[in-house]
Amino acid sequence: MDNTSQSDDLRLTLDTVDRFVDRHIPIDELRRRDREHAPPFDLMPMLGAAGLLGLPFPTEFGGQALPWSVVARVEERLGYRAAMLGTLFDTTVCFGGMSLLTYGTERQRAELLPRMIRGEALFALALTEPGAGSDAGAIQTRAKKVDGGWRVTGRKTWSSNAKQSTFMVTPCRTDPNARGSRGITMMLIAPDATGVHMTELSKIGNAGLTSWDIGLDDVFVSDDDVMGEVDRGFYNLMSTLHYARAGLAASAVGQAQRAVDIAIEHARDRAQFGQPISAFQVIQHRIADMQMRVDQARLITYHLADLISDGKPCRREAAQAKVIATEALHYVADHGMQILASAGYASESDMQRIWRDARLYTFGEGSNEIQRNIIAKELGL
Ligand SMILES: Cc1cc2nc3c(=O)[nH]c(=O)nc-3n(C[C@H](O)[C@H](O)[C@H](O)COP(=O)(O)OP(=O)(O)OC[C@H]3O[C@@H](n4cnc5c(N)ncnc54)[C@H](O)[C@@H]3O)c2cc1C
Repeated sequence: MDNTSQSDDLRLTLDTVDRFVDRHIPIDELRRRDREHAPPFDLMPMLGAAGLLGLPFPTEFGGQALPWSVVARVEERLGYRAAMLGTLFDTTVCFGGMSLLTYGTERQRAELLPRMIRGEALFALALTEPGAGSDAGAIQTRAKKVDGGWRVTGRKTWSSNAKQSTFMVTPCRTDPNARGSRGITMMLIAPDATGVHMTELSKIGNAGLTSWDIGLDDVFVSDDDVMGEVDRGFYNLMSTLHYARAGLAASAVGQAQRAVDIAIEHARDRAQFGQPISAFQVIQHRIADMQMRVDQARLITYHLADLISDGKPCRREAAQAKVIATEALHYVADHGMQILASAGYASESDMQRIWRDARLYTFGEGSNEIQRNIIAKELGL
């Protein structure tokens, strides 16, 4: 694709995002959903109809085969305008769609990708267990081979949107003698399958997603619902994590820019000591630092998106973008709260929502300490 048609595609796609948000989740609606803990599951078929869930997928499945550089900018725009919708977009497209595309079977792809692209099938990742957070290779959920499939027993926790999903992408230990990342297989488990028990977890932010503790009690999973090669699931999972990290980084950039813009507007409007607080150099410098952090994060995030678009290796860059963008967001949300002061602490303030949501991202989806471990390893340390 040449640069002109790429920028036309991008402009048209971002216009679609803006129209969608204006119509279905403008700011008052976003605030209501956050207040009432009402995630936008109901908007997904409309997001699909608008063509936005198929962006990176091949046309044979109903997708648009656009490069990841377009996807990243869409995730950034959603982060800026309606972050909770962006989060749902990410879990579905990255944990569901990209997993199916990368290591799903032909049948799974043919059946599930078109439904996902239409917004009719949602996906969750059920990786984390009570004893396996950062140490994902320590999972103990056990799958035993039986005739025609597997019997799965174990417990997963903090799985986002699991109950509302069509399938949970679930790593299970299929070889009990293997240790760490070996002997794990990815399976598709329906949340309403016999033996699945769900308890909702309450939390302080990210009201746009639901969180579940999941008991798996002798759940039957047919051979047809195994994704990728048996015992190689961990490697399959690792081969798609850069998509989720790229998505989170882009969303964080959007949310961070929003926080800076709110801070600038407030600093201009709020007067103390007879002048707008934006006239104080300490406020100006704080905002300058905030914008610099966001711009740095945006550059590495776009660079990562270009590497993904070109099919180049990006393990280090994905970890770097995740760290830089989530820490930029954390920084600007915190400084934004300082600039807004009491106005930011009020429940109706958008800054407090961004600040609460931001707290998750430096430890969620692989903590930033683990990302630094990855970066160090990639540097040969
Ligand atoms: C709202 C929310 C949504 C989530 N969504 C999902 C989801 O959809 N699917 C899913 O599977 N999981 C999900 N999670 C779980 C999330 O991925 C984990 O919280 C995360 O991986 C960290 O695991 P942990 O909380 O057990 O922390 P721990 O692993 O106990 O870590 C605690 C601290 O120790 C540090 N640490 C641990 N090991 C090391 C090390 N080797 N070197 C340096 N520091 C280390 C960590 O960085 C962290 O600071 C979600 C969590 C939340 C809160």
